[in-house]
Amino acid sequence: MPHPALAIRTVAIVARVLIVEDDPQVRSAMAADLTERAYAVRTAGTALDGIREVTHHHPEVIVLDLGLPDLDGGQALKMIRAITATPVLVATARDEEAEIIRLLNAGADDYVVKPFSGEHLAARIAALLRRAAPQGGTAVLTVAGLSVDLARREALLDGRRLELTRREFDLLAYLAARAGEVVTRRELRTEVWHQSYGDDQTIDVHVSWLRRKLGETAAAPRYLHTVRGVGVKLDPPQ
Ligand code: CA
Repeated sequence: MPHPALAIRTVAIVARVLIVEDDPQVRSAMAADLTERAYAVRTAGTALDGIREVTHHHPEVIVLDLGLPDLDGGQALKMIRAITATPVLVATARDEEAEIIRLLNAGADDYVVKPFSGEHLAARIAALLRRAAPQGGTAVLTVAGLSVDLARREALLDGRRLELTRREFDLLAYLAARAGEVVTRRELRTEVWHQSYGDDQTIDVHVSWLRRKLGETAAAPRYLHTVRGVGVKLDPPQ
């Protein structure tokens, strides 16, 4: 059976979640539960691997087990907090109030006491995401493995950060906001370039640069599809 995190996703992902848990059975059960609910899940078995994941894959929520082999939960939390403000949901086996209060004060956003159901875990994660989302609508557009964070002006493809120019980012954000629709060059010119007239070549050139950064070609498109004579469409890969 393939690892759940590697399963092919055809639906838009809800958010990227990192699970840091050393027990392989608990870890894969959590990963399976969240993957089923359309989260893009990555996992780590030690605190240090978890921190590496945070640095390289920018999860939107971190589920942190407190009993890890390499670092104490409080230390792991402190290291995570030193590099990111991403919400951390602490998973603890002990229902000890003093310890939970200490961790909440140390930067944890919420906690769950083991054993918990997949449904409970997913509900806690959804609540954290709602709290973390800036006011005033969707700040992150997600199309399969592509996510465009409008507030941070950051785009990730399969968890990897894309190096985009300002114009490329604007173009990608506009296409992602209208995913599944054909966007005409004229719309791109007025909405992205803010020009009422101009030549289509500039737009075509930017589309091809963006395509290259997405690691695809016009002949073998994954996300960006040129509709000849009309415009461009951004779609989840088939
Ligand atoms: Ca553990």
